[in-house]
Amino acid sequence: MQIYWTKINKIIEETAEVKTFLLDCPEGFVWEEGAHLHLALRGFNEGEKPNRSLIRHMSISTLPNENSIGITTRIKEQCSEFKTILRELGVGGEVAIFKTHSNVPLKREGRKVYLLSSGVGLATFRPLVLDYFERADNVEGIHSLNVDSTKEFLFTSIFETASDKKFTSQFVDNRKDYYGEVEKLASDKEGLFYVVGSDEFLAQNISILLEQGIPHEQIMLDKHEKRRNEFLGIEMPAVPTA
Ligand SMILES: Cc1cc2nc3c(=O)[nH]c(=O)nc-3n(C[C@H](O)[C@H](O)[C@H](O)COP(=O)(O)OP(=O)(O)OC[C@H]3O[C@@H](n4cnc5c(N)ncnc54)[C@H](O)[C@@H]3O)c2cc1C
Repeated sequence: MQIYWTKINKIIEETAEVKTFLLDCPEGFVWEEGAHLHLALRGFNEGEKPNRSLIRHMSISTLPNENSIGITTRIKEQCSEFKTILRELGVGGEVAIFKTHSNVPLKREGRKVYLLSSGVGLATFRPLVLDYFERADNVEGIHSLNVDSTKEFLFTSIFETASDKKFTSQFVDNRKDYYGEVEKLASDKEGLFYVVGSDEFLAQNISILLEQGIPHEQIMLDKHEKRRNEFLGIEMPAVPTA
């Protein structure tokens, strides 16, 4: 596993609590839309075992052609040790990145894509939408639905309805409206439904989508296959031990 140490080159204050840290892109570091990485702070690998309190999974909120690795996160006043240190780092501060992988690349299967997210979960979808704007091949259109109770919605200049691009974006500020909308969107039985948010949020969305008759193959989660199957209640064939 290659660990890349890199520097913060810019910090964007997206809202009062949400920041995007733009990191220099180390040579040889590549990713595709929907990717996440491990973000680690100095000291994480200095003991016998990696110090987990200094490591977090983060989605990459930029595309490679933006020439920086974007990490978008909410930092509340009361926050973890990890975020306290990150907040203090500032431009020029060093972080480590490693183990990049995308569970949710944009599928180009001639279907409509529904991006369902809560809060900063929208960051995972930002590169998918930009990728679609650059090349719409084999995507029937995208609809984004984001719920954020702070009402301080993210990336509103990108997540703006553009009918000429077959792109619609909806923001709501409460779960009741949100789940009502999900039910409506699930009337498209051919659609691909991507869901990003907390585990509880995923479970609730999955339950509605399955109930509405969306097959589990059409539900994408930012989880490795085994965890995805557990969430979707898919039984895996037992592996023979003998
Ligand atoms: C594939 C994947 C991708 C992900 N992508 C992202 C991403 O792009 N952006 C992102 O932000 N997260 C992402 N996450 C989640 C991320 O890894 C963290 O779990 C998440 O950001 C919470 O961070 P934290 O544990 O440092 O806690 P915090 O965010 O600091 O805290 C979590 C909650 O606990 C409260 N809290 C924490 N410490 C205290 C304290 N001392 N006193 C009182 N209250 C406290 C906070 O106020 C907050 O409500 C991703 C996870 C996965 C698995």
